[in-house]
Amino acid sequence: MFIGHFGIGLGAKKAAPKISLGTLFLAAQFLDLLWPVFLLLGWERVQIQPGITKMTPLNFSYYPFSHSLLMACIWGILIGFIYFFFRKNSRSAFILGLCVVSHWVLDLLVHRPDLPLYPGGTKLVGLGLWNCPVIEVILEGSIFVLGLILYLRTTKPSNKKGIYGFWALIAFLVLIYVSNLLGPAPTNIKAIAWAGVSQWLLVIWAYWVDLNRELKGNGNK
Ligand SMILES: [Zn+2]
Repeated sequence: MFIGHFGIGLGAKKAAPKISLGTLFLAAQFLDLLWPVFLLLGWERVQIQPGITKMTPLNFSYYPFSHSLLMACIWGILIGFIYFFFRKNSRSAFILGLCVVSHWVLDLLVHRPDLPLYPGGTKLVGLGLWNCPVIEVILEGSIFVLGLILYLRTTKPSNKKGIYGFWALIAFLVLIYVSNLLGPAPTNIKAIAWAGVSQWLLVIWAYWVDLNRELKGNGNK
């Protein structure tokens, strides 16, 4: 799951308009922002195993700290509390926490049973839609488009950067998704990890986009 997570971030703007799109992306994609860092630190492991699912060749053999249900909840609570500490808005903080946990729920739909419930747990879950590419693409594409529509209904550009910067970001996300789908399998883990780390740039890009867009109507909530 890739653009589906960003779809959640976009759509959440409707529920919590005061949160920057950058922060919403950070939350919705937080587990996948941690994961490459933990890979590089050697705390989590992945293998390249072409054919393990139809859509991704990655065997997520050990990632309890970024991708267990318990840790997803803990990360969600942590991000929610940090937001609350700075912004004193409990509703927005709660929505942000939900965005973090949503990542695990969406991953549950697509991953084969490789997601732990808690670190050290032996039960692994995953509904395996990565083996049903048509359904996966329709599902993930729909979440993304729906999120996009909600975001466009909530914000409008304040200037040209808010138009072109935004649409360039959207196009780039789609491009990454499509090239992951159609491109060759990666050949080394370091490259996967660094590509993952580079997703932080998408978060920064989204902060910049948000600064160049404003809420429609009075936007008070
Ligand atoms: Zn993930």
